[in-house]
Amino acid sequence: MSAKIQSIRGMHDVLPDQSGLWQHFEKIIRDTVQAYGYREIRMPIVESTDLFCRSIGEVTDIVEKEMYTFQDRNSDSLTLRPEGTASCVRAGIQHGLFHNQQQRLWYMGPMFRHERPQKGRYRQFHQIGVETFGIDGPDIDAELILMTARFWKELGLSNIHLELNTLGSNEARSAYRDVLVEYLSAHQNQLDEESKRRLTGNPLRILDSKNPQMQELIEAAPKLMDYLDAESQEHFDRLKQILDETGIEFRVNTRLVRGLDYYCKTVFEWVTDELGAQGTVCAGGRYDGLVNQLGGKPTPAAGFAMGVERLLSLMENNEPELNDDLDIFMVIQGEKAQIQGLLIAERLRTECVDVKILVNCGGGSFKSQMKKADKSGARLALILGDNEVSTQSVAIKHLRSECEQKLIRQNELVDTLRELL
Ligand code: ATP
Ligand code: MG
Repeated sequence: MSAKIQSIRGMHDVLPDQSGLWQHFEKIIRDTVQAYGYREIRMPIVESTDLFCRSIGEVTDIVEKEMYTFQDRNSDSLTLRPEGTASCVRAGIQHGLFHNQQQRLWYMGPMFRHERPQKGRYRQFHQIGVETFGIDGPDIDAELILMTARFWKELGLSNIHLELNTLGSNEARSAYRDVLVEYLSAHQNQLDEESKRRLTGNPLRILDSKNPQMQELIEAAPKLMDYLDAESQEHFDRLKQILDETGIEFRVNTRLVRGLDYYCKTVFEWVTDELGAQGTVCAGGRYDGLVNQLGGKPTPAAGFAMGVERLLSLMENNEPELNDDLDIFMVIQGEKAQIQGLLIAERLRTECVDVKILVNCGGGSFKSQMKKADKSGARLALILGDNEVSTQSVAIKHLRSECEQKLIRQNELVDTLRELL
């Protein structure tokens, strides 16, 4: 016997018992983004490797060690997308979506990162991304945050907290970078290996270190907040004011720097303590420089991405009530009943809005079909045998209550079901 083929480590099937929750989640997200006037964009899953190197940044976890990069048959270097923002910007530039217009866009789909798989961290995972282009004020940052807060409410999630920071303008950040490097260089001997490596490439990321031995050093480091340019300061103050007045609670976390290079000004994360180390369920911010950096005209932009699997596991903790049960299971006995059953089911699907009917196929005894009907979760069984066919009738049996079985005429069926369902 040949060896069983398994899915790739860190890449998972969503089985039928789980897909109901995914669909429930996706519907809430879709309805909510639409309620804010955002429109969906769908990008390819594979892009030029260059796109991610140029946007996310060479000295980041993603580009240094997490990308699925390969050569295709033409020897072009391609990469399975590790995130959606770069693709979205690429698509917008390519199709002229940013010329003299604002865009409010969203997407959802799989992303790929070669990380160590663990709970809440996979190699294929899913994100919902929301991006806005052409709007530079703190009002749009606030709108994005209000939208995320509404997601949590609609999804029935409460234990998620907002952390907020500002990274300032690119100029302010690079001035701060010099100060930080000077400070950290003066304490070389307290830096761990990773931080030593980042000191030249991406020193801001050192602030994000989870190493307990580094915490004292980081606490005492100069604060970016003290090097902010006036415009960023004003932007940040106004954002905080809007959030205060719209009732969004937040905590300013000056160590929040985000792992991707393209952010400036506002950055935020929604964090829960219910998921252990994988506690960030949504992360985003402003990236005014990215469109220009990728070859478009300078275009202010802001957005966020949510980790679907992490949010679903939070939802599972709350055991949401999902109704994906069937309404009707059709029990069929005999050859004539087989055709008539299919026809009746077709008519019901046309005439009864949203009805879910499963017609027994492949035969089976009456008893075994009734067992299947019961297991299916359907509320009603419609029973059709030779007898019913010859009298143009059908039997209705209630599977979840003690109501008596009833024989009715087939031409009364639609009206009867409209009453019952
Ligand atoms: P982390 O610090 O957890 O590695 P990140 O900063 O790399 O997150 P982002 O690139 O900002 O994550 O992606 C946005 C969101 O996507 C994260 O907050 C998280 O919810 C989710 N996410 C990121 N990587 C993974 C992964 N490997 N598996 C599952 N979800 C992920
Ligand atoms: Mg990561």
